[in-house]
Amino acid sequence: MSVLPILELPHPMLRRRARKVRNIDKKVLEIAHNMVETMHDAGGIGLAANQIGILQRIIVVQMVDEEEARIYVNPEIIRRGGEREVEEGCLSIPGYRGMIQRSVWVRFGALDHTSVTVKLKAEGLLSQALEHEVDHLNGILYVDHLKSHDDLYKIEPEEMFEDSSAEDGDSAAEADEIDSDAVVGGDVESGEMKEQGGEGSAASLTVT
Ligand SMILES: [Zn+2]
Repeated sequence: MSVLPILELPHPMLRRRARKVRNIDKKVLEIAHNMVETMHDAGGIGLAANQIGILQRIIVVQMVDEEEARIYVNPEIIRRGGEREVEEGCLSIPGYRGMIQRSVWVRFGALDHTSVTVKLKAEGLLSQALEHEVDHLNGILYVDHLKSHDDLYKIEPEEMFEDSSAEDGDSAAEADEIDSDAVVGGDVESGEMKEQGGEGSAASLTVT
């Protein structure tokens, strides 16, 4: 397995639609395993193949309380319900977070790494991650869901735990909009994240 570079906005691969996988063969599994390794290395909870420059419908997802990554091929959001506001980030858009609307739950289907059809209903953070990753396969990024550019803000690691509203002079990046206790910092501190159980409220952990 190897860690691959993650493509960043505005790389054109992030805007293309990935193709359906016909056979889950050795090559597809190798891509998926490299994606898992890349996701772990980056401290994310999900990754789509476009993000490593491969236009095949493969995603990997791993909630913080899960021991193993899920590999999903040809994933689909079958149904979705409800609306909620969440904070979201993306490994392909480093340094930013945004507030967007996501579903409360999704009905999801895919093939797993053994070519078996998986169907599940997801809520909370898993639902958010699945919507985010399937979007990637369709060339869609979370910033496309922003209602206003004020809903996108820059993350300054050194300012993350300060209460004061530090201005950095960039009108698109208001540091004072960052809710200091919703801010990450602990992307890789899984001990802390486990307490949050991988459900809904820990939306700031969605860096995928
Ligand atoms: Zn992403």
